[in-house]
Amino acid sequence: MSVVPRARAGSRSRNNVSVPADLITIAEARERVLAAVSPLGHERIPVADALDRVLAGAVHAIGDVPPFPASAMDGYAVRAGAAGRELAVVGESRAGSPSEHDLQEGEAIRISTGAAVPSGATAVIPQENVEARDDRIVTGAAVSEGEHVRAAGEVMRTGTAVLAGGVTLGPAELGAAVAAGAAEVEVALRPRVHVLCTGDELREPGAPLGPGEIYNSNGPMLAALAAHCGALAAAPQLLPDDRTATEAGLEAALEAAEVVIVSGGVSVGPHDHVKPALTGLGVREVFWGVALQPGKPTWFGVRGDRLVFGLPGNPVSAAVTFSLFAAPALAALQGIAVQPRTGAEAVLGVPVRRNRRREQALRVRLERRDGATVAVPNGPQDSHVIVSLLGADALALIPPGEGSLEQGARVALARLPR
Ligand code: AMP
Ligand code: MG
Repeated sequence: MSVVPRARAGSRSRNNVSVPADLITIAEARERVLAAVSPLGHERIPVADALDRVLAGAVHAIGDVPPFPASAMDGYAVRAGAAGRELAVVGESRAGSPSEHDLQEGEAIRISTGAAVPSGATAVIPQENVEARDDRIVTGAAVSEGEHVRAAGEVMRTGTAVLAGGVTLGPAELGAAVAAGAAEVEVALRPRVHVLCTGDELREPGAPLGPGEIYNSNGPMLAALAAHCGALAAAPQLLPDDRTATEAGLEAALEAAEVVIVSGGVSVGPHDHVKPALTGLGVREVFWGVALQPGKPTWFGVRGDRLVFGLPGNPVSAAVTFSLFAAPALAALQGIAVQPRTGAEAVLGVPVRRNRRREQALRVRLERRDGATVAVPNGPQDSHVIVSLLGADALALIPPGEGSLEQGARVALARLPR
């Protein structure tokens, strides 16, 4: 990629970030990625297997919840009325065993929380509000109609859309789906992801390191990021800096997965083989080069329905570019409506030196101060400092320009999956 002379005019994209003409903005890159994605389709699975899956369509209640008027207290089902009434206890309604008795004036039926309120009863009086004498009670307080009774359909009515399509199913969503009557849910297929890490210097976790060698930290990190975005990530694979091996690894990955993520080797060094290998395999380049720090040499291409992300090798660059470009693609593949920008903002907690030509993605911690969300850089920001990702809450996007962005300036936030 050519170095852009200072005097050269920049292009102004629709999000108003001015960048060098041969690089595209983060927003433009995300739009191009999202334009290349079609949702994968869906399958029906038991609710118990659906944790973290994305709903393909709304879940509607198949009946009222609760299905019957139910007691909210342990006590007595009665007719509403004044304090001081003496009532005959004529039966019991337990959770799961309703009383068949049709309650009359002058009667009470012992009732447990969650048990069906018998017909004829209009209220429940808690047991602490009565004085019990053998098979009779005296009400110690007035009780009004509907008191301590959960109305049928109070939580959801038959036909209510309890969960919307596109929602990720967490524990509460699974519970709500079952309460609504669902045994199975229609969920998006999980994208299959293959992570390939290029670099002769890379060794598997824990292996002894020879001279000049480092651990392949990107492999497990990128596979884990993909898994947290709902993907089925295969074991990451190492590739040497060799054209033939790179091409063979990429071809196998393209056959096995909808999304291929390659780390390293996307620049223009003599040992960077990813770009020519991908071109040789018929993967069409959609972009190469984003006005982003860190992550300038990010590459994205497509072959049919396959998406290929070439991410720079520095660990922070890999994590940042995954978060900005691959994560939205994985979401969109699962039918989640993704916006190019999150709309979230914060104010800067410290002044930040701007990059003249590129938007910076700072790893920040978010703090609440005087009602504002304040973004504080999470330690040194160089692209090899992997520990700057630890405990980071988001990426703060600093527009390019001269000088510094002052403390208190508003900045856009991007999501950092973790
Ligand atoms: P590259 O993008 O291949 O030029 O690599 C840039 C830097 O990132 C170099 O210092 C590499 O050693 C380092 N790097 C590349 N791949 C990985 C990886 N999988 N894990 C950790 N560091 C890496
Ligand atoms: Mg390399």
